[in-house]
Amino acid sequence: MKLILLGPPGAGKGTQAEILSKRLGIDTISTGVMLRAAIREGTELGRMAEGYINDGKLVPDDVVVGIVKERLSQEDCEKGFILDGFPRTTAQAEALTASGVEIDKVLSLEVSDETIIERLSGRRECSKCGTPYHVVFKPSPNGDKCPCGGELIQRADDNEETVKNRIEVYHNQTEPIKEYYQAQGKLVVAYGKEELADTTLEVAKALGLED
Ligand code: ADP
Ligand code: ZN
Repeated sequence: MKLILLGPPGAGKGTQAEILSKRLGIDTISTGVMLRAAIREGTELGRMAEGYINDGKLVPDDVVVGIVKERLSQEDCEKGFILDGFPRTTAQAEALTASGVEIDKVLSLEVSDETIIERLSGRRECSKCGTPYHVVFKPSPNGDKCPCGGELIQRADDNEETVKNRIEVYHNQTEPIKEYYQAQGKLVVAYGKEELADTTLEVAKALGLED
């Protein structure tokens, strides 16, 4: 299955991607995770992307298209993959199509703007492996540490001002992608629920994975 996860920041895409990855035996490719890793490692890509991310703006299309294409060209992607956080503009979606990658389904995970703000304020992330957590909705089994031993930290772009920008960017730049894939008959929709397990069920239903 070659799958795209769409949805506003904080919709739970990363968490659902992780669950689907295990269930389907395919890797998740998250541009957000890749960019934050580059920032941690202090690479040229990281230094370039950091300002955009901390302002809640999008990193330029050619940059993200480049890193995604490179990742998708690796052999393990042939059996399938889950794209989380890419494409995020119509230009990125068009570049993906132009690169010859055939997407099977695009899942839009829908949540309200109010929910997003609530979610992002409690969101935490492992500083070592990048696994997402939430202080209320998805606490770490190891308390204030990740099972890998890493510290749980709040992302620099989860502050109120940046969150507002990210929501606006989502509505203006990313949401139009839904129409792009709707026109190709690939769009399916799931509504995010309060409980993680309920959202997981909605996602499975939308993808026709129930058993
Ligand atoms: P969220 O979905 O919670 O906003 P992500 O980790 O997907 O978090 O993205 C965080 C930030 O990384 C974005 O606000 C943006 O600055 C940058 N980014 C991630 N993916 C892309 C992309 N496909 N195109 C442009 N910028 C991106
Ligand atoms: Zn970890």
